[in-house]
Amino acid sequence: GNLLGQKAAQLPAWKAANKVVSYGKITSLSIQEQRKSLPIYKLRDQLVQAVRDVSTSRLTIELTYQNQILVVVGDTGSGKTTQMAQYLAEEGFLERGRLGCTQPRKVAAVSVAKRVSEEVGCRLGAEVGYTIRFEDMTSPETKIKYMTDGMLLRELLVDPDCSKYSVLMLDEAHERTIATDVLFGLLKKACKRRPDLKLICTSATLDAAKFATYFWGCPIFTIPGRTFPVETLYTKEPEPDYLEASLITILQIHLMEPAGDILLFLTGQEEIDTACEVLYERVKALGPQVPELIILPVYAALPSEMQSRIFEPPPPGARKVVIATNIAETSITIDGIYYVIDPGFAKQNAYDPKLGMDSLIPISQAQARQRSGRAGRTGPGKCYRLYTEIAYRNEMLPNPIPEIQRTNLASTILTLKAMGINDLISFDFMDPPPAATMLTALEQLYALGALDDEGLLTRIGRKMADFPLDPPLSKMLIKSVDYGCSEEALTIVAMLQAGGQVYYRPKDKQAQADAKKAKFHQPEGDLLTLLAVYNGWKASKFSNPWCFENFIQTRAMKTAQDVRKQLIVSCGTNYNRVRMAICSGFFRNAAKKDPTEGFKTLVEGTPVSIHPSSAIFQRPPEWCVYYELVLTAKEYMHQVTVIEPKWLSEVAPTFFRVADQNKISKRKASEKIEPLFDRFATNKDDWRLSKQKRAT
Ligand code: ADP
Ligand code: MG
Repeated sequence: GNLLGQKAAQLPAWKAANKVVSYGKITSLSIQEQRKSLPIYKLRDQLVQAVRDVSTSRLTIELTYQNQILVVVGDTGSGKTTQMAQYLAEEGFLERGRLGCTQPRKVAAVSVAKRVSEEVGCRLGAEVGYTIRFEDMTSPETKIKYMTDGMLLRELLVDPDCSKYSVLMLDEAHERTIATDVLFGLLKKACKRRPDLKLICTSATLDAAKFATYFWGCPIFTIPGRTFPVETLYTKEPEPDYLEASLITILQIHLMEPAGDILLFLTGQEEIDTACEVLYERVKALGPQVPELIILPVYAALPSEMQSRIFEPPPPGARKVVIATNIAETSITIDGIYYVIDPGFAKQNAYDPKLGMDSLIPISQAQARQRSGRAGRTGPGKCYRLYTEIAYRNEMLPNPIPEIQRTNLASTILTLKAMGINDLISFDFMDPPPAATMLTALEQLYALGALDDEGLLTRIGRKMADFPLDPPLSKMLIKSVDYGCSEEALTIVAMLQAGGQVYYRPKDKQAQADAKKAKFHQPEGDLLTLLAVYNGWKASKFSNPWCFENFIQTRAMKTAQDVRKQLIVSCGTNYNRVRMAICSGFFRNAAKKDPTEGFKTLVEGTPVSIHPSSAIFQRPPEWCVYYELVLTAKEYMHQVTVIEPKWLSEVAPTFFRVADQNKISKRKASEKIEPLFDRFATNKDDWRLSKQKRAT
């Protein structure tokens, strides 16, 4: 923290932030005051004590894991997400490991991490950071890490004990995303293996008892809310066009109601952008005597500069209207909202492209109540429901159905299999997915070749699990290498990840937009058309005016470009992977240092040497592979790469195997690689078994 005084600078930033009252900067002071004004602040010490207790007050001698877990319930905006992590950091809970806090949505993870880094007074990515798919803003010094639940799931793939963490917080657990549901089961197991791990589950709703029961009857900590009454209004008739009805309602509020900001819930990016545009035109048309209306969209794909603007209060005399997806339901709290407009719909799975198709569905009663609650945070508010009271009572489910019970599980099952969890029937799900859903997913994975006929992960399946993509997409990418079209497949996959909102079709220029789009049409279909669009953009040197001319959404294209870049995996300076890739092609050219002869090739036993021009001539390794042999004065290896001997049997299991352990000493065993030449490995399952062991 560059704002801190000398002495304070010695302390980790959050400790300093808590002790130093004055930063010499008004904004920082008021941030600290804001922190203290949150409902959770009065309970700070009790909360910290509760977390402490969960590890020390074991009532019985026998291990009761319930003591490692705490369920925290509190109204949205009470400070759970931003404050709890800081309290625990301030109290020294993170001395031996970090705190990971999961969010079902990536926007929430980013926005909260930003906010907390400001409160702590550190650079984002230093003590406080975030990790979302395709973006890692953390460093070794990161103590508080916000991330999507999907990312933690991926971390567990390589580190099932969460060894880097002291505390894990499954935030927004009531959302019941698949990733969170699977994390419940996996972290329950991790708690058994790691008695020092603490797990906190937070929920905005009162289903806490269910969570507590699932976690061996763990304690529940309740943060009483601070809410004002909200008057709920229904429409008399069902609304045929909720978008139009929403916009009319906004204007009515703006012109007739006292000061206070407005929050409208819509279902997705395209709809929100259209709404913002139309609303802007309509307000403009009303003339200059109408007070200013600041229109702010909020959805996952929004650039982060825009996202911070939603938290700024409007200038005096102006009114703010925030048009958001259901992200504003619980994950993000915007202060100053007095009016909520709820059309009653949500797009499911919109926050996780891994899960495929989005569908528009009516929200549940619990969600409707949650939405209206957003109007009562600053003072008494109003909620305009764009559906009838009868529809609310009779057509809406009391609670949303957990995602795990309603979506395709192929991707989840693939991840679990890659973790070595084969017995899915006895996996400890809070609400098990229906057997039929599970079976469909297994069949799909089998058909894709990811599982064999015993339901075990195949080699290609293991590869598929490494991609942060839906299994068919990862299969397509992997196979495109064989078909010699990885460049094109990569583009198509990236364009699909851009949310399918590539074409821009404004209401007043539809014919023109369609004509432009038709120019890209390919007889082979739409994905090839997407490819043509991307390549057209690329040919224009990724220009914005090109997008504008062709009615293409620049933002979608940028997303595709980004995803594309990130799917072209770079290991940075982790050269091990590059060396393994080299090894997987050149394993036949392996050589081992020889006490007498310099080097000997592994396959033929020919004496060879490293060429004096080589970068490693002065420091010859034990093992290497060469690109070619050139005979001059000696047989020289050219273009040499250092390798680990164990890679040979990994990358070419039908060609090399580790020598029989019984015949040689243990120390030698790891180094002893025997060529199998053109014989196949005796036991075809060997590689699979060893792979799975490594995965667990
Ligand atoms: P909870 O998790 O209990 O819903 P949070 O910790 O997310 O509550 O929010 C606590 C307070 O912090 C809220 O009043 C919210 O408005 C404020 N806040 C959160 N993120 C930001 C941000 N990026 N900018 C400004 N205020 C924020
Ligand atoms: Mg929260």
